[in-house]
Amino acid sequence: MSRIIFATGNENKMKEIRMILSDVGMEILSMKEAGVTADIVEDGTTFEENALIKATAIGKLLPDDIVLADDSGLEIDYLNKEPGIYSARYMGEDTSYDIKNKNLIDRLEGVPKEGRTARFVCAIAAALPDGSTRVTRGTIEGYIGWEPAGENGFGYDPIFYVDAYGCSTAQLSPEEKNNVSHRGNALRAMREELKAL
Ligand code: IMP
Repeated sequence: MSRIIFATGNENKMKEIRMILSDVGMEILSMKEAGVTADIVEDGTTFEENALIKATAIGKLLPDDIVLADDSGLEIDYLNKEPGIYSARYMGEDTSYDIKNKNLIDRLEGVPKEGRTARFVCAIAAALPDGSTRVTRGTIEGYIGWEPAGENGFGYDPIFYVDAYGCSTAQLSPEEKNNVSHRGNALRAMREELKAL
């Protein structure tokens, strides 16, 4: 039986992945659990390219397994889709999200709600034992608020508001967020790809 290895060291992501892929009927392991470590340069120009770079690099180390990798970020339309694929590196990896979030709100000063549209994007790539690859994309649409709110989630969640909930994604429970999130949507699309193998 093939195993699924997810190329992440993030335990929260692993929890979400195990939940969403539970009915695929394969063992799901983190990279650490599979005994591999790798430092991969993500030098692609799209979320899809970066996810593929990671999945295929780890796939070479685990040729008998299905290796999944993701890449995600925040696109703000008014800022020409910044920070985009540079979401983690925006203003420097070590800059706190309190500062990054304040900076983005400042850059939207005076912009009315209709101009503040944004989305979280997630691409998930799979490197398969036969050498082929699959990629799926998930998004969640929202807008950048006027102030941060909420303690859940991470990163840009406190400034990303979703109309259907009337609050930021940092104000949603993890379950509520997974049901509608970019990563949840990309994972659910990947689940269908894997079931069809
Ligand atoms: P990664 O590719 O999942 O590591 O995400 C890259 C960066 O995008 C993160 O460091 C965050 O800045 C941002 N990001 C991705 N997904 C989310 C999310 O669900 N909430 C808030 N920020 C996110």
